[in-house]
Amino acid sequence: MSSIRSYSPQDPTDLVVEAPAFTSADVARSISRGAEAHHAWSRASPHERAGALEKAASALQDATSELSRLIVREVGKPVAEATAEVARGVAILKYFAAQAFEPDGEVLPGNDGRTLLMVRRRSHGLVGLITPWNFPMAIPLWKAAPALAFGNSVILKPAEQASAVALRLADMLQQWLPQHVFQVATGGPEAGTALVDGADCVSFTGSAAVGRQVARSAVDRGIPVQCEMGGQNASIVMPDAAPEPTAASIAAAAMGYAGQKCTATSRVIVVGDRPDFAEAFVAAVRALSVGDPSDPAVEVGPLITETARDRAATAVATASNQGARVLFGGGRMTDRQGHFMTPAVVSINDQSHPIAQEEVFGPVCALLTADDLPQAIDAANAVKYGLAASVYTSDLAVALDAVDGLDVGMVKVNQPTTGVDFYAPFGGNKASSYGPREQGKAAQVFYTSTRTISMSGVRP
Ligand code: NAD
Repeated sequence: MSSIRSYSPQDPTDLVVEAPAFTSADVARSISRGAEAHHAWSRASPHERAGALEKAASALQDATSELSRLIVREVGKPVAEATAEVARGVAILKYFAAQAFEPDGEVLPGNDGRTLLMVRRRSHGLVGLITPWNFPMAIPLWKAAPALAFGNSVILKPAEQASAVALRLADMLQQWLPQHVFQVATGGPEAGTALVDGADCVSFTGSAAVGRQVARSAVDRGIPVQCEMGGQNASIVMPDAAPEPTAASIAAAAMGYAGQKCTATSRVIVVGDRPDFAEAFVAAVRALSVGDPSDPAVEVGPLITETARDRAATAVATASNQGARVLFGGGRMTDRQGHFMTPAVVSINDQSHPIAQEEVFGPVCALLTADDLPQAIDAANAVKYGLAASVYTSDLAVALDAVDGLDVGMVKVNQPTTGVDFYAPFGGNKASSYGPREQGKAAQVFYTSTRTISMSGVRP
């Protein structure tokens, strides 16, 4: 089997792992083993399923510092966020362990007094999970934990750049699960495609381009599919929003983890003439600490690859050449090893410019203006994505109007666009998502299907 390599983004000479590159034939073999394992797992008691997830949660918790160091090393996530991600993984496992005991159906009135009419949920079979590198532990877990809790077997195809974390996660889960109930297929697009071609259900998170392809293939096969994809998320700043705290909140959401979150703020739409806000925003971005992600004081680490860093820096330079004003940053930090750049704030009048339309997936934020709330909402909605948005105001009526008008799956008031609660449904509108929501109670709906069962006590 050939292999893939994952290098540390802050030290590209540091080979974190060399992992097998699964071919289509390798994935097909894993699928048959997983499908076989599903038979017994789908009939396991809720005690057994919940017990396995609970034990995995404890193992994860005990290994918090080792796992967070691995996340820092492999994907360059600042250590405070990496530690929080492991804690979130623990909480996700515990939450879905408890969900294994939730009702799995309902009873309806039968068509005579003695007929029992029931609706029961059951697992799909072998579920394929295809995940990105930016939340290497939380995303695989928020998919795998419910899939397993509701009786599916799982194959995880992690992003190449997050192979080491995925393999370590597999160690922590597999020791509590029957053989082949949870498998990992490391590799690239070939492994992902083969999984979509053979699984009974697919959950994907990643870019819009790949997600659309995955959705098309899954729909062709007639299997359940959900795709969580990119964003171009806006925060609206109303005239009554206090400049410094608002700027600090948005700067962290735009630039934290070098802007590599699907919910990162990519546009700030400032309502009214607010030079004070632009100044406060630039000051808040300038104050962020950029550097070695293992330093607890650092908020902005490297970009995942040199290509990603160059793409983000080029987006800023192109906008500047086309009339935008770069208020701060945007340069490659070539004096350092690793794929660093200074976070960039770009003031632009034109909402249709690519920097205000496309997902840069880097520490780059466009600053736009609007005359009033309706204009700000129109601008926020004038992108193909619809993942998250927020509004900063102390006026309740304005907040409610914004919540009503913003065409996104997640809307926040006086909070940053980033931040997700695993016990609430998660997903976007338009090009950001396809298929049912994930997380929270929505997960049971996705990872199971219903059967309607009618039982009569009267023999014909
Ligand atoms: P990506 O689309 O390049 O890769 C995602 C996964 O798909 C990887 O495992 C990759 O190997 C696999 N893949 C690639 N080609 C494939 C194919 N043809 N068939 C099947 N699988 C294939 O995304 P990425 O660079 O890893 O992650 C960044 C993207 O993820 C951003 O667009 C970001 O917005 C998005 N993201 C979205 C969410 C969300 O919940 N909406 C969360 C995190 C990241």
